[in-house]
Amino acid sequence: MNYLIVNALVMTVDRERRIIRDGAVATSGDRITDIGKTEELKRRYPDHTLVDARDHIVMPGLINAHVHLTQALIKGCADDVELMDFLQYRVWKLMGSYTPSEAAASARLCILEMLKSGTTTFAETLLAGHYGLDGITDGVVDSGIRGILAKSVMDLPSYATRDNIMDPGMIEDGDECLERARRWKREREGEGGGRVKIWLGPRPVGSISRDMLEKVSSLAGEEDMGIAIHFCEVQEDVRLIRERYGMEPGEFMESVGIFTPRTLLAHGIWLSPDDMERIGRKKATVVHCPGSNAKLASGICPVPELLERGVNVALGTDASTCENSCDMFGAMKLAALIHKARTLSPTTVPAETVIEMATINGARALGMEGEIGSLEIGKKADLICIRTDTARTAPNTNPVSAVVYSATGSDVDHVMVDGKWIVRNGSVLSMDEEGILEEARTAIAAVLKRTGVNNDPRWPVS
Ligand SMILES: [Zn+2]
Repeated sequence: MNYLIVNALVMTVDRERRIIRDGAVATSGDRITDIGKTEELKRRYPDHTLVDARDHIVMPGLINAHVHLTQALIKGCADDVELMDFLQYRVWKLMGSYTPSEAAASARLCILEMLKSGTTTFAETLLAGHYGLDGITDGVVDSGIRGILAKSVMDLPSYATRDNIMDPGMIEDGDECLERARRWKREREGEGGGRVKIWLGPRPVGSISRDMLEKVSSLAGEEDMGIAIHFCEVQEDVRLIRERYGMEPGEFMESVGIFTPRTLLAHGIWLSPDDMERIGRKKATVVHCPGSNAKLASGICPVPELLERGVNVALGTDASTCENSCDMFGAMKLAALIHKARTLSPTTVPAETVIEMATINGARALGMEGEIGSLEIGKKADLICIRTDTARTAPNTNPVSAVVYSATGSDVDHVMVDGKWIVRNGSVLSMDEEGILEEARTAIAAVLKRTGVNNDPRWPVS
């Protein structure tokens, strides 16, 4: 189909960062074919199907560079507890018991939330084999979203400096993980018109040996796969690398070949200047997840310092257990606020920088900068239309401010991926929303019952 979206405020995030009032975007098939003023494009494309985007900001689809599809189901099941309790007695315990249909139900719920709140591309970091990789891949293909799916790789049932604490349901064999990732890529990558990509997701440094990390980096090279890993999320990660390997974190990761231009380093909180230099030199990306880091009391990623050194910083929501929402608008707002509070400087990390993190920097991180992340002629038609006629977003004198500081995912009206409308007027066209919610309710009831996890509030419940 050929569409002409007209009367919009078009925020391109192109090289010049142009914002066009009374703007229009023309699409043909899966591509953007023209961008300009409404009057001119209407004359040029009289046969295109018109979409009136008056009182809307049209911008590139958001890129959630760190999310866990399988935790949407257990949203609210691990709040306000210490990290080890969070992992051992909540997250791993619940997810360790998943059947493939429960994992797929969680993935569908997460994708539904992302699409409705304007995310058109995501990167999922840790998919364990027992989740059933096919069901999750089907969720991406059928929904119309674009997704990076990383197969988890581990060979130590530990976390940071704590040995043998992983839930038995989550433990996997390292070589099997690699073989499964290789097979998964061969079988499913490129499905959905190229929307599915399979990557490698080594677990954090305490859960994977040096040997296995080296195998990950050589397989990534052989099979042309990206790598997504949690890095320096907790102080124990740094202590462990020093004790076990006698090196600093960046030095160690570089020595095992994990820093590449297609490596996502989630969190990056406890980075030294030397770590940052190494990440920058290798053109790897730090994925900032401010909500998760605040809720788990992990710390604050040194984003201003990374940006000063030219490191690519993307943005993620992380899991629904540690930010409780996969709405990138929440992550954008927090990213714009938290560094100002830390540095006592209101000019730090301005809203424009945050939009770059959620769009073009995310695209660069995934090695897809030539395809997505901005509205430019020839790129994929992945775009969102945000209402500016709501009490939250009006009167919209500055669209950058409206997007970062005022809007929420609920203000997203239309979403297009690959030139197809996936969300119109707030409703998802590609998924059975009611069915997905019902399936999620049934699945979480079964998981809580099976594991015996009590998720009642601290207040008396009758
Ligand atoms: Zn994570």
